[in-house]
Amino acid sequence: MGIVVQKYGGSSVATIEKIKKVAETVGKRKESGDSVVVVVSAMGDTTDDLIELANQITEYPDKRELDALLSTGEMISASLLAMALKSMGYDAISYTAYQIGMRTTGQHGKSLIEDIDGEKLRKSLTEGKIVVVAGFQGVNDEGDITTLGRGGSDTSAVAIAVKLDAQCEIYTDVDGIYSVDPRLYKNAKKLSEIDYEEMLELSSLGAQVMHSRSIELAQKYNIPVYVGLSTSNIKGTLIREVTNMNMESKPITGLATSDDDVAITVKNIPYNINSISNLFGKISSKRINIDMISQTAPIDGIVNISFTIPKGDLNECMSILSEITDKDNLSIDEDITKFSIVGIGMKTTSGVAGRMFKLFAENNIEVKLITTSEIRITCAIKTQDKLRAVKIIAEEFGL
Ligand code: ASP
Ligand code: MG
Repeated sequence: MGIVVQKYGGSSVATIEKIKKVAETVGKRKESGDSVVVVVSAMGDTTDDLIELANQITEYPDKRELDALLSTGEMISASLLAMALKSMGYDAISYTAYQIGMRTTGQHGKSLIEDIDGEKLRKSLTEGKIVVVAGFQGVNDEGDITTLGRGGSDTSAVAIAVKLDAQCEIYTDVDGIYSVDPRLYKNAKKLSEIDYEEMLELSSLGAQVMHSRSIELAQKYNIPVYVGLSTSNIKGTLIREVTNMNMESKPITGLATSDDDVAITVKNIPYNINSISNLFGKISSKRINIDMISQTAPIDGIVNISFTIPKGDLNECMSILSEITDKDNLSIDEDITKFSIVGIGMKTTSGVAGRMFKLFAENNIEVKLITTSEIRITCAIKTQDKLRAVKIIAEEFGL
């Protein structure tokens, strides 16, 4: 029998009733013969509520103290779950990140896991205990409590699975990964499996089912991750390396959209590498993340450049730009949706972009910017065209 690491998200442990339910499920799994480690998130909206408390003190809480505060949410659910398990007659023990040597580096609020003391976990498992771990938290070299970023308990779970060479199961409030967000397209199909790379692209593009770093980690160590519901027998989705592409597999696995960006166009830039690198250098010095970029062909040594940035960075970006160019040269387009199609099948199938642009043209969907990777095509389109574009493309590619 193997070791399994199960993670339960905030909605699965939102109430005492739900915690008892999780304890029952976990207990049964243990009885079936597996060694079980459970990673929990904070109950329901606890993390948001704690942030709100901090903000009642100050708009900019000290980062070390904020981590100390936020980490308490997961400690509550971990100890309650261990208590529930014990009251049902199971041998269980809860641990904080400190107790299992979950060492992190980097900044407070977005720390990275460096290593875990696997021996401690293994010893408790050998003693027959169900081990419950507080997710989302770590400890840095100074011995201070850190957190891994919002949604970070997925990453705690995968890291523990890597360390113990265990199976990893993520239980959330959705029954798996869909080809398209079912709120945007009601006929969206649930995927029985998806490749790590595809899942990474989709989650960085707005599909918010999983913490992106958990998938990077799973891919690096080739640990398959199951995502689904704990409360039913409905089959979820397995994230893993998909290699045996058969003839019938589709070029496109999924589609994602995001309304979180804004496009900026800077006109009349002298066409030389210094002025272009000066422009992007100034923006990146403020840690503003630029995504899509396009440049017009030079006319009389002058080009126009358009790019997208997160909406939240617009003001700061405009103030940098107004230092380097005249106001008349700047325009903002807030009415954009990033529309992306993703599939490892694109590596071996040609004509995918052609099919998409043909449909966009036939349906009067204007494409403002385009970027691609080996397994992804992203277009910036008008937000008002989003639902139409989703429907047309989902139907075309059978999503
Ligand atoms: N409780 C944390 C959050 O709400 C971590 C997690 O849920 O994974 O972001
Ligand atoms: Mg989550």
